[in-house]
Amino acid sequence: MSMSMTGDHIIAAMRRVVPLGSVRAALHEPLIGGAAWAYVKDCLDTGWVSSAGAYVDRFEESLAAFTGIPNVVAVVNGTAALHMCLLAAGVRAGDEVLVPTLTFVATANAVAYCNAVPHFIDSERRTLGVDAEKLARYLEEITVQDGGLCMNKRTGRVLRAVVAMHTFGHPVNLDALAAVCERFHLVLIEDAAESLGSYYKGRHTGSRGRVAALSFNGNKIVTTGGGGAILTQDAVLAAEIRHLTTTAKVPHPWAYEHDRTGYNYRMPNLNAALGCAQLEQLPDLLARKRALARQYAEAFREVPGVQFFEEPSFAQSNYWLNALLLDAPGAAGRDALLAATNEAGFQTRPCWTPMHHLPMYDACPRMDLATAEDLAARLINIPSSPALVSAEETDA
Ligand SMILES: *Cc1c(COP(=O)(O)O)cnc(C)c1O
Repeated sequence: MSMSMTGDHIIAAMRRVVPLGSVRAALHEPLIGGAAWAYVKDCLDTGWVSSAGAYVDRFEESLAAFTGIPNVVAVVNGTAALHMCLLAAGVRAGDEVLVPTLTFVATANAVAYCNAVPHFIDSERRTLGVDAEKLARYLEEITVQDGGLCMNKRTGRVLRAVVAMHTFGHPVNLDALAAVCERFHLVLIEDAAESLGSYYKGRHTGSRGRVAALSFNGNKIVTTGGGGAILTQDAVLAAEIRHLTTTAKVPHPWAYEHDRTGYNYRMPNLNAALGCAQLEQLPDLLARKRALARQYAEAFREVPGVQFFEEPSFAQSNYWLNALLLDAPGAAGRDALLAATNEAGFQTRPCWTPMHHLPMYDACPRMDLATAEDLAARLINIPSSPALVSAEETDA
């Protein structure tokens, strides 16, 4: 089967799912409706536009109610949320933090912001996320426990935490990973930026780690324009994070007292207003995402040379960004396919460049990354905007 034949089949399958009008089928565009106008207008009318206000509180409460994770701090973006997760988890300058190489660059950047060192780990085919078994074998080989700390024998640095990322909304195997973290005394942090509305064995992603980060960037399932949140079961930790993200200002009616170097990271009310309206739409957005994924799964079932990626058996995914896995390895065929599908009006793109290939991270420590390399060369993302399916096509 030649790659151009595969390309023709893929485009035909996409046409069955997404009948193109005059517009291109975008990878991911927000669907802004419901009370968005009313809530944002309310901010403008009342002058409550900045980093305090009733919509921020309401947005945090709504997120807590939806996820079942009781403590939520809304911040300016997902990267800032990850940065705070790492500091809250005790990551210090000179530590190493285990991060999948197959992720968006923010996961590694947040580690660098702490003057810590990203240490890249491999992914598994089943979830596209961290391979817990392979990680355990690797840690047996390179680490030694020293007074409750996990030391990297090769570099002499402390291995402090693991950041698990739920790729395209598909949950990693959290039970297996949590067991590895416990055994090796590592803090588990969840980069749940892509997985709002995704569940692992019935529990919302972000529930398992000590802390978790969400993103509400324009391309995520719910947007606040730009935004993020930190979620944790730990009320004390949440209070600490709230303080740190509010320039470490000591509460007082008029005095400006700050007790350490804090961050100006709180989400503005204007963004939270949009977020409140988007959260009201979330059940509908999730239903559309599942309907679109179901249609793709059906349309690609008989297409040779390619598999539509489906949620792992233990998970319910939000199907934030749909993905195809090409049978044939090699970037040449993949790039021809990307060109053909974009030409045909379907926005597609390759997966991220693995972190250890980026110039600022290419000298970082790493394990064997064969599966991540292979996945990165074979994955492509396909149009996933919620507007590509109508509300009538959902089960709701
Ligand atoms: C989007 C995203 C982030 C960061 O979010 P921003 O809000 O864009 O800063 C972090 N990690 C992953 C995996 C993401 O997809």
